[in-house]
Amino acid sequence: MGRTGAVTPVANLDPVQLSGTTVKRASLHNADIIEGLDLHIGDMVFVEKGGEIIPKITAVDKDARILIGDKVRFIKNCPECGAALVRFEGEAAHYCPNENACPPQIKGKMEHFVSRKAMNIDGLGGETINLLYQNDLLHNIADIYTLKVPDLIRLERLGTKSAYNIKEGAEKSKEVPFERVVFALGIRFVGETIAKKLAFAFKNIEALEQATFEELIAVDEIGERIAQSVVAYFSDAQNVNMLSRLKESGLQMSLSEEKLQSHGTALSGFSIVISGTFSSHSRDEYKTMIERNGGKNVGSVSAKTSFILAGENMGPEKLKKAEKLGVKLVDEKTFLSMINAEMQEESPEGLLF
Ligand SMILES: [Zn+2]
Repeated sequence: MGRTGAVTPVANLDPVQLSGTTVKRASLHNADIIEGLDLHIGDMVFVEKGGEIIPKITAVDKDARILIGDKVRFIKNCPECGAALVRFEGEAAHYCPNENACPPQIKGKMEHFVSRKAMNIDGLGGETINLLYQNDLLHNIADIYTLKVPDLIRLERLGTKSAYNIKEGAEKSKEVPFERVVFALGIRFVGETIAKKLAFAFKNIEALEQATFEELIAVDEIGERIAQSVVAYFSDAQNVNMLSRLKESGLQMSLSEEKLQSHGTALSGFSIVISGTFSSHSRDEYKTMIERNGGKNVGSVSAKTSFILAGENMGPEKLKKAEKLGVKLVDEKTFLSMINAEMQEESPEGLLF
């Protein structure tokens, strides 16, 4: 089980040699795959080793069935905490819904919270989290900010230096911007990009907490599944309590002034490729402008590309591909007017940087 509570079934096999390693386990992915394979206990199976770490079962050798075992049925309860598993619409996986009391989920959430792209807290790795959890010092992410050095030092496996590192890392993480805090919370289905969208759409945690389902789906790229998950997260009393403790600890719970002013939506939902050389701004400046106006800068031309910001001497391969796919080319002057028009509406200063 992962931090999101998704349950991944794994088959235990009689060990077999497969391109240089002994394979003992194979991923079964989800209930549909098990059903599709018509898998029974004791079956002879075909196993394939692809790019994944755990090999997968591709088929059952039904001719090899002599005595047929019980049909493999997906478990109904969480193997860790016993809660009845649930399935979300459109999702292949089964989940344990007991987010705040299922040990691997609690620990997984903390690991996600401290990870580099989230709060980036040095000194708090998976093992340390496990140690602190087992010693009753960490129950949820808010506890990270109220850890006391003497309590940490008392733990046998943790030195004085590590204890101070944890405190220092937690202190430093209070500067992490709001959009990353939203990501760090580990709300189901809210990845890095969605967290950014939510942060810029609602601007502070209070507004996000109070956002209704309708308000959420009105935001670009936020579908029903995400909206439901966000509403569910903020209607859980335990989460609300934890958030108020995080606020008290001094985390960034709103967009910085600078970001509030610089963020436009002129390019929201656009996937843009930059190619060629430019005279008014550098490529990096254009990249920043795309991001600040809600667009996404991508490296290669595909059917999903909205347009190409094309300078002089555009790459011939990109040009060919754009023509083939019918992707529009936009020169820098047109591009600047596209975002300027929006910026003037958004902020009276009309400042890009
Ligand atoms: Zn559970």
